[in-house]
Amino acid sequence: MSSLGDLYQEVILDHNRSPRNFRRLDISSRKVEGRNPLCGDHLTLYVRFKDDVIDDIGFQGSGCAISTASASLMTDAVKGETIEKAKLLFSRFHDMVTGKMSAVDVEMLGKLSIFSGVCEFPVRVKCATLAWHTLQAALQSDQDVVSTEESAVF
Ligand code: ZN
Repeated sequence: MSSLGDLYQEVILDHNRSPRNFRRLDISSRKVEGRNPLCGDHLTLYVRFKDDVIDDIGFQGSGCAISTASASLMTDAVKGETIEKAKLLFSRFHDMVTGKMSAVDVEMLGKLSIFSGVCEFPVRVKCATLAWHTLQAALQSDQDVVSTEESAVF
């Protein structure tokens, strides 16, 4: 493995060990559950809006290192951002992990770019995108459970 790969691995392990925003929010927030049955990843996402801004966000659950680290980095990335920006980030993140993005664009995703290597492991794409799909559901529908195995968005 290259040293760059090791660095990415390090960040993922760090976020898995001590995930950011790993907490439940109060009842005024939106709560959506996400499941990836293929890997056994499961998370509950809490989002609180203030007008069109994601005022606060947190998650709880259990899963593999990639799904947990992805949820951790995602909550960090969208907290304080507008709903519009969060949707844009989701589509860019999705392009990246499915290998549809140029290296230059990947770099612009900052910390989230550590997941770019995931595109080489199709099974892991669902682990990396679980939190994002759950966020998407929280942003645009009344759906409160999403699964990587039954949704038309895949
Ligand atoms: Zn997983």
